[in-house]
Amino acid sequence: MIIELPRKFTFFNETGEKVAYINEQGILILKEVSFRKVMFELAYEMKGRNRCCYCGKIIKEKQITIDHMYPQDFGGPTITNNLLPSCQECNNEKGNMTTKQYKKYLLAKRQRRRKEYIEDLKQYLIYIRKWELFEIPKEWISKKEITEIIARIDLNDDYIGKNYKNAKNFYEKYGHIQKPVIVDRKGFLLDGFITLMYAKNSKIKRLPVIVLENVEVVT
Ligand SMILES: [Zn+2]
Repeated sequence: MIIELPRKFTFFNETGEKVAYINEQGILILKEVSFRKVMFELAYEMKGRNRCCYCGKIIKEKQITIDHMYPQDFGGPTITNNLLPSCQECNNEKGNMTTKQYKKYLLAKRQRRRKEYIEDLKQYLIYIRKWELFEIPKEWISKKEITEIIARIDLNDDYIGKNYKNAKNFYEKYGHIQKPVIVDRKGFLLDGFITLMYAKNSKIKRLPVIVLENVEVVT
């Protein structure tokens, strides 16, 4: 998939080194930098740093948060297409709803049908967890099977922690991987290390992968 990018973007780390930028071909180039951090920066750059995208309130730059339009708990990836700057109140109220559901919820709240809507939503979530792979658009997931993912991570890292257990519990309960793995155009791992390790350890063959065709990691 192609992610939303501005025409120009440059990002420096704390020591003043240029660690992310958009080249002349419109490809986002990443050096040694946190992928999530760059995605957050890009979302602010394109969608604003001081206005909530839900209620429209103008807030201080320090108080802005990033909302995942498709929630992370349901496979929502941290990519620009899925991120909206929002105020803390809206972000908290939205919780694990999608942006579309949240808008319906706000309407239901105005019409005093809040409780009914929450009940419907509960049923929907049971359904989605059981039967659907993810809540996110199907076209985001690569149709090609990815046979090789390149990861530059020290495997001595103690990765079997809380997140690993969550991935395991989810798989055991629902029979599918909770979150897709994100790689750049060359198959370099950008996000989803825990998912990848859990799949590898459990010999899970069908692993959903999001390939970002306009992102490239360089060394
Ligand atoms: Zn708001």
